[in-house]
Amino acid sequence: MKNIIVIDDSPTIRTSVQFALKQLGHNIRQAENGLKGLEVVDEVMDQKEDLALCVVDINMPEMDGITFVKEFRKKDKFTPVLVLTTESEEDKMKEGKAAGASGWMVKPFKPNDLIGVVQKLIR
Ligand SMILES: [Mg+2]
Repeated sequence: MKNIIVIDDSPTIRTSVQFALKQLGHNIRQAENGLKGLEVVDEVMDQKEDLALCVVDINMPEMDGITFVKEFRKKDKFTPVLVLTTESEEDKMKEGKAAGASGWMVKPFKPNDLIGVVQKLIR
């Protein structure tokens, strides 16, 4: 089974992303900031499991999403990273893309829109 890691400091967002994406049949793991997200990435790698996707928020304590993307790309060049943004974060979207993000989703989003974007990224 492939893993999707959902990294957001909002438990509500993590839960709604998990609820939407579990329909795809992947194992969903959660983390509350970028640093914890990197720990979960290491866990998946140590367990020799496949990683299908990371979904990451921008504004989080400890380590933000842009820094997460930069650090993650040192470990994994190819696995897609979907960044969750708000309308006002256009600069951050560019920064995220430069850091190696594969796509973004503007919050708030409908579950089906998220599923559509994710299916394109992980096929
Ligand atoms: Mg946040």
